[in-house]
Amino acid sequence: MKAWRFYGFGDMRLDDVPEPVCRPGHVLAEPLCVQPSVTDSQLAFGIPTLAYEAIKRRLDTEAPVQLFGHEFCARVVEIGAGVTRVKPGDRVAARAKLPCGSCPFCLEGKNHLCRKGPIIGFQLPGCFAERALLPEIALVRVDDRISDSEAACMQSLSDSVAAVETAGIAIGDSVAIYGQGSMGLECLQIARASGAGLIVTVDVREEACRASRELGADVALSARGDDPVAAIQGLTGGNGADVVFECAGGSPKQGLAGTQSLLQAIESVRSGGKLVGVSWFGAPLELDVDRLRERSLRLLFPDISTLAHLEHAVRLVASGRVRLKPTITHVLFGLAAVPQAFEITANKGKHQAINPAQVVLCP
Ligand SMILES: [Zn+2]
Repeated sequence: MKAWRFYGFGDMRLDDVPEPVCRPGHVLAEPLCVQPSVTDSQLAFGIPTLAYEAIKRRLDTEAPVQLFGHEFCARVVEIGAGVTRVKPGDRVAARAKLPCGSCPFCLEGKNHLCRKGPIIGFQLPGCFAERALLPEIALVRVDDRISDSEAACMQSLSDSVAAVETAGIAIGDSVAIYGQGSMGLECLQIARASGAGLIVTVDVREEACRASRELGADVALSARGDDPVAAIQGLTGGNGADVVFECAGGSPKQGLAGTQSLLQAIESVRSGGKLVGVSWFGAPLELDVDRLRERSLRLLFPDISTLAHLEHAVRLVASGRVRLKPTITHVLFGLAAVPQAFEITANKGKHQAINPAQVVLCP
């Protein structure tokens, strides 16, 4: 079969490799639609972010190696012994991070807390290939009301579900969201479905502000024109928002907001309120911790997403409570287009992309 393999950072080639053989507890699946995550895309070009050292080590010692491709919709073609939750013909999406099955958390039935298991696309081959071998434990069946293209966003959406759950939004809480890329727009809609009151969003891009209004923001601020901190204070009686999500930060080289949006987010939370850090910065940064301490701010980071989060993501999209179509801006066709999808996703700002670029493999 054909599969994309990495020979080094920035060097991917479409190779002939042996087709994987189905194993107990696994399924063999045909990828229908797949997208590189932002993390995949940055790592593909050697840009430091989450898991950079682990990927560098694999490239140094094992290249050529099949990497990335955990955000997908695939059709099951064969099931291994013991598989009960899916059958041939089912469409599936997956969570990326898997429990190890043998650590104390896993043995106590708390496998949602396990951090030792493999990640699809990092330690296990992903879906930039004609066939993929996937562990059943990773999979969720995709509802018929969800398109292949929407299903490819499920993994990222389940991370957003986990981020909103971490925030513990109470009914009527005011929410501000910095960054209206795919995760910001997902957090917006999930926060709305979770009982948030006033929701204010912030982005520098006009197209992102437009999508944000269309998807339910009460006020979508353009960070180019308005002072977002003053505007959020004004909209919340001078207090700041109960909950703030920071989804804009990261390297300006990739069109992200640097650390400025984090500093603004800190000033936009009410005293005693919660700030959820969704962004990856790719480098250490300086923070005035006393400023957070003085105002009793709760700085939180999202829990890793579980199968329950993924199942909820499917329900949210199938029922229309979360809409993904307005965020899918770039769709390519055929396995040969995969490198272009990496390039667009690594440079979303330049390409005016919201969601990662998708590749339809089986129209
Ligand atoms: Zn474990």
